[in-house]
Amino acid sequence: MLDAITRRLFRHLLAALLVSSIATIGLAGGLQVSFATALMLVGVHFLTAAVLGIGATRRAIEPLRQLTDILRKGDKPSDLLLQELGELGTAVAEMWRRWQQVVAEGRSEQALLTAIVERMEEGVIATDEHGNVLWVNPSARRLFSLPADTLQRRLTELHLPFELLALVQQALRSGNPQSAEVQWFHPDERFLDAYATPLSVNGRPIGALLVVRDLTNLKRLERVRKDFVANVSHELRTPIATLRSLAEALLMGGKEDQAVCDQFLQAIADEAERMGKLLENLLELARLEAGRREWHWQSVLVSDCVAQVAERFKPFAERKGLKLVVRAEPTLRVRTDPEGLTQILSNLLDNAVKYTEQGEIAIVVERMETADGDWVVIHVCDTGVGIPPEHLPRIFERFYRVDRARSRQQGGFGLGLSIAKHLAESLGGKITVQSEVGKGSTFTLWLPTGLQEGNG
Ligand code: ADP
Repeated sequence: MLDAITRRLFRHLLAALLVSSIATIGLAGGLQVSFATALMLVGVHFLTAAVLGIGATRRAIEPLRQLTDILRKGDKPSDLLLQELGELGTAVAEMWRRWQQVVAEGRSEQALLTAIVERMEEGVIATDEHGNVLWVNPSARRLFSLPADTLQRRLTELHLPFELLALVQQALRSGNPQSAEVQWFHPDERFLDAYATPLSVNGRPIGALLVVRDLTNLKRLERVRKDFVANVSHELRTPIATLRSLAEALLMGGKEDQAVCDQFLQAIADEAERMGKLLENLLELARLEAGRREWHWQSVLVSDCVAQVAERFKPFAERKGLKLVVRAEPTLRVRTDPEGLTQILSNLLDNAVKYTEQGEIAIVVERMETADGDWVVIHVCDTGVGIPPEHLPRIFERFYRVDRARSRQQGGFGLGLSIAKHLAESLGGKITVQSEVGKGSTFTLWLPTGLQEGNG
């Protein structure tokens, strides 16, 4: 605008110059003065008018120039300047107010959208139509371990599963949303539910949006449930088949022979007892998992509890020629459920006796302070077969057995440790294990000393 004003000013000056030239010729003729005098008079007049005109114009357009500079910088013009500009100033002030309102509304809308997408559990990645990454939310960063400088990289550089890249490409190419379930093995097995949709503004394609939901935990639970049903059926199938064949053998004449009859009936009783134990274990697990077990919290002298359990297991250990020793600090107390504590210790001792052929089983009770708390710890140490390191992470899973045949032969179902772990966690503690094949295992129960009445 200022340029236009300047150009117009020059045009006017040129016109004035033309008019003054004509006036000079006329004046020289009319007043019969010499042409030089007339030229001088008109020239002086013209120059004075031009200087005054330029000065006045410059002063008049100065506020406009200031306004242009301020607006160009994106600043707000001062009230004084706007007042100076009169009607134009009022219009600019109104425009400024509306503009600020639009900007504020845009900002708060953007902040709201960002807050929503940033907190979404689903991973979200937006790309332009060429596959360059425009935007990534924290869940996507976590899910795919994305580097910090993701933006403006190509989607193909992000080490995403191939199926996700194909999904985005299909969405971009077809202009239609695409979805798929993707199994991914990096670094661990993952199940993803992915949805890619093209993005457009006023009908013009501008990119694609990829939304990914992590279904791994859900799938894992589903698998655990299926495995559980399969395991229970498997555990029941064998004793039921045994019971059936024993009963059939009795019916087909076995009952006539007293010795065979007694032997078969004893076998039936043993199998029934085994099934009863399995059901007891399953019910215990179900109660624990459903949070339906009742706890009776009280102050327990740990050495007493340990001594009672050790006494119960002594005959079994001695029958195998094993020594069972207890080394317990006598005054240590914890606030816990005594029945739960007894059950954990029984399961650990039962295993120690089952999986040890020679040597000794020691129960050691002591107090330990670690970075994450103050504990009473109970170690159950054996000199048994030990557990290969690759099995250690899984031995607390339901029905997991390192050596199926040996465990079954010992009357185990692979449920003892998972029950013990559940109980320990319900009592505010944990169980850890250290083991070396051929040397033995140490299972350690950690119980917090700081549990108060209210925690129960
Ligand atoms: P189980 O009824 O088979 O003993 P657990 O859940 O108690 O079931 O134990 C799971 C598996 O862990 C066992 O089958 C066994 O292979 C292994 N295990 C447990 N305790 C010991 C131990 N003290 N020494 C060696 N292996 C053990």
